[in-house]
Amino acid sequence: MTTLVWFRSDLRLADNPALSYAVKSSETVIPVFIWDTNAERDASQRDAVGRAHLVWLNRALPELDASLREQSSRLILRRGDTLDMLNHLVEELGAEAVVWNQRYVPALRERDRQMAQALRGDGLTVTTFANRLLHEPDAIKTGSGGPYRVFTPFWRKFQREVPIAPPRPSPHLGPSKAPDTWPDSDIVAAWGFTARAQDGVDWATHVREHWTPAEHAAHQRLDAFLAGPASGYDVERNRPDRDGSSMLSPFLHFGHITPRQVWHRVTSWRDADPSRDNAAQVFLSEIAWREFSYHVLHHYPDTPSEPLKEKYAAFPWLEDADALTRWQHGETGYPIVDAGMRQLWATGWMHNRVRMIVASFLTKDLLIPWQDGASWFWDTLVDADLANNTMGWQWAAGCGADAQPFFRIFNPVSQGTRYDPHGTYVKHWIPALAEVPKKYIHAPWAAPHAVLRQANVELGTTYPRPMVDHSKARLRALEALETIK
Ligand code: FAD
Repeated sequence: MTTLVWFRSDLRLADNPALSYAVKSSETVIPVFIWDTNAERDASQRDAVGRAHLVWLNRALPELDASLREQSSRLILRRGDTLDMLNHLVEELGAEAVVWNQRYVPALRERDRQMAQALRGDGLTVTTFANRLLHEPDAIKTGSGGPYRVFTPFWRKFQREVPIAPPRPSPHLGPSKAPDTWPDSDIVAAWGFTARAQDGVDWATHVREHWTPAEHAAHQRLDAFLAGPASGYDVERNRPDRDGSSMLSPFLHFGHITPRQVWHRVTSWRDADPSRDNAAQVFLSEIAWREFSYHVLHHYPDTPSEPLKEKYAAFPWLEDADALTRWQHGETGYPIVDAGMRQLWATGWMHNRVRMIVASFLTKDLLIPWQDGASWFWDTLVDADLANNTMGWQWAAGCGADAQPFFRIFNPVSQGTRYDPHGTYVKHWIPALAEVPKKYIHAPWAAPHAVLRQANVELGTTYPRPMVDHSKARLRALEALETIK
């Protein structure tokens, strides 16, 4: 039997149930990746696939191909309508079966169901597997059988669910699983994923330098995290000036590593030393936030564009293209906000605490719709993930599941002072402020002229003045909130 393994957001060999099943059940195994622009666009429920996503895929696909070639296999790339492409390959190779791992974005889930139906209608065997999440998004139910909207009871119930099965090892493909002749494959470089930004600047240079989008790199990152920052994760995870978090998010998103692999590595690490208990518990609860995000997206599929709390649909958001651009470019005049936005642009990633601060600033200080912020993150984050991004933005804007209440408005100066106390993070991402003394680093406008001169800062020239007065903006936001109460 010849089986096509349809790869999507599961770019790995180990703990890949579809691949393991194909290797076990078939004589010939053909790994396939199809770039279907329409499907991706539908899935994102946004206008376009994010640029950072493309930058990641541009290297991730050759990396997966290289890992497969080490086992005498390869990744066949095709571009076009998914069903057409699968049908062509089935015909070309005389394949009898197609297997894949399930996805949980509502639009994709529905497409996959239709795809399976159409292929089965043509007499093919279709088998699908679950392992993007630790538990299916509808597996955790409240006492009355409904979905959770608050994390803590979800997490409590989650921990009482059946234990999480150990991950599967990488299957052995070898020459015996290869076809006599490999079908043609596209070249990812021809797909235009590296297209430059309109202004001619190769925006992604640093993003590319920053990451190795591959399965081996995901495991190296987890090893490094467990060997270092993990033991202080419960305390340090809120500090953008420290490497306190795992930075596994894009690897989890693209499926270079599974939550099950992470879960088992972390629980073994914890069991080896009781002093790690608290740090491990906090880390595992973050993995469970990812599960919660998928749970909420599954039960409330409109939330990428609509607020979960319906009254926020009438919130008097402002249309302000200029302010949005200043926020996107890290030119708000609030150093912690600007450092975060510049980190995002340079690396395709931003620290979680800073994501919360910049999202609060956009939605509350500027009153710009959270959907605009989510779209920018969608375009620029390498970990852009419909479930997590939606959850994060609705949390920050006060309109989502277990959200921060709208009236809790982050003060960007005190957040900066608390979580980047020496200004190290700000100075790294805003070199123009590198000489500003610690006392003024989060509010340079408050520094005496002589101090700014000494630090070579000219407000309005080398670094912007604050685009809003936070205390006035806060009052304006609270007044706006009154209108929907
Ligand atoms: P760690 O702290 O090491 O956590 C480990 C893993 O747990 C993460 O990789 C991630 O998969 C998961 N996780 C951690 N925090 C959260 C959280 N709050 N919600 C859901 N899962 C979490 N995360 C994304 O993966 N993609 C997004 O598009 C995304 N958009 C966000 C937008 C906003 C406005 C906010 C406030 C948060 C967003 N997050 C998103 C959640 C979180 O910021 C990132 O998952 C985290 O910063 C990734 O860094 P890490 O891998 O070092 O996390």
